Amino acid sequence: THTHTHTHTHTHTLTCDLNIMNSWSPEALVRKSQEARNQAYCPYSKFRVGAAVLASNGTVFDALKKCCNVENACYTAGLCAERTAISKAVSEGHTSFKAIAITSDLEDRFTSPCGACRQFMREFGSQLDVHLSKSDGSYKLMTVEELLPYSFGPEDLRTGENTVGNSKL
Ligand SMILES: [Zn+2]
Repeated sequence: THTHTHTHTHTHTLTCDLNIMNSWSPEALVRKSQEARNQAYCPYSKFRVGAAVLASNGTVFDALKKCCNVENACYTAGLCAERTAISKAVSEGHTSFKAIAITSDLEDRFTSPCGACRQFMREFGSQLDVHLSKSDGSYKLMTVEELLPYSFGPEDLRTGENTVGNSKL
């Protein structure tokens, strides 16, 4: 029973992914982020944000996850859309990403990720394509490298392991 359930789920996912693969475009990814934005839980800021991230395995696009911002009465406990969307993907086994789209209700400027989200994205690669969009769907394409130059990442931590001989960790 467990195996059957798993297989069914997997098949469903592949079907969805085929749709994504057939229609994948920055514009489509932006539209997905707009869908996520419509679910935003932001009673305090009233600033709706949506993010959609496309996971890739080499040249195969194998998942699309989207999420909105989720605020909290304890303001600092709130979550950004970008980090939540990536966390959804990672929690389902995806750690390689092709692109992410971010949107809000801003009409006159591109929605830009906060510093914490830039660092969060950088964990999975500096070359990730980031589509900063306006509410009309127009977007500006930047890489994580451009958004967060001279960054600190997993490679730096591994270097530390090799050179800190007296670490007690
Ligand atoms: Zn953020």
